[in-house]
Amino acid sequence: MGKTGKKIILANPRGFCAGVERAISTVQLALKQYGPPIYVLHEIVHNKHVVHGLERMGTIFVDDLVDVPRNAICIFSAHGVSVATEMRAKSLGLRTIDGTCPLVGSVHNMVEKYYAEGYDVLIIGYHNHPEVEGTAGRVAGNVHVITTVEEAEQVEVQDGSKVAYVTQTTLSQDDITVIVETLSQRFPEIRGPKSNICYATLNRQRAMRDLGERCDLLLVVGSKNSSNSNRLREVGERSGMRGYLIDDEHDIDMNWLHNVSTICITAGASAPEQLVQNVIRFLQKREFDQFEEMDGKEERLIFEPAVLQSRK
Ligand code: SF4
Repeated sequence: MGKTGKKIILANPRGFCAGVERAISTVQLALKQYGPPIYVLHEIVHNKHVVHGLERMGTIFVDDLVDVPRNAICIFSAHGVSVATEMRAKSLGLRTIDGTCPLVGSVHNMVEKYYAEGYDVLIIGYHNHPEVEGTAGRVAGNVHVITTVEEAEQVEVQDGSKVAYVTQTTLSQDDITVIVETLSQRFPEIRGPKSNICYATLNRQRAMRDLGERCDLLLVVGSKNSSNSNRLREVGERSGMRGYLIDDEHDIDMNWLHNVSTICITAGASAPEQLVQNVIRFLQKREFDQFEEMDGKEERLIFEPAVLQSRK
């Protein structure tokens, strides 16, 4: 059969980041060293295929530490936890392994430092996201979560001259900039970084730049609760593509492909490459028989797996 002229452009970099690789290998290592079951508080990373795969190997995911038997091994997810959660695990007699991504850990350190210096700390991020909850819970008070410009306009602090902010690691810079501008007008002495967006989120979003001129449709492989995957879709849409988030090829609605000649495929930081390859095969069988993989920024960061915390 001849070529149809329909094309797939595969974005780069895409998929697993160093923090997700570390969290998954931490669980795999714990299963090997200590045997199943291994407990994990919340989803280790926000991807249903990863979670189901680890469940099949003997991992039990829980939403409350009370469901973990005394003396069992419990891993904290890549999103990080509050100090209260760490204390609770200790009081329940659990053996814990901290799977928190080190880049989230550095945001924790920043919040703790600002708080110790007497600042009200604003966390720019999503309410109820586990990373934000963990970051907010690193200190005992004077922490406010800001998701919208309206919240930035209304937040009340103790002393307007002592305000600092950090951000969730998986946002997009556009969203942060408008909130920081609002906060800076209200609190001219506010302290904070340009953002705490991690390298993996930034690189995946930057790869979307200008693709709107070349692609009609964007498919982001990633689960619905994955923050960085959602932001990736939004950034792609801002560049001009119609974007959808899919867990795998079964989520593709054939109506999306009508009148589409070029599809961009990328993957959030918690989505395995195998899922991307399955999507490519699915589309290749449906006339998308031309293929181009973008050059992308090389990522070399690797984190060692986390180990069992010593019990005091
Ligand atoms: S997306 Fe960024 S912060 Fe989150 S786990 Fe990956 S490297 Fe760490």
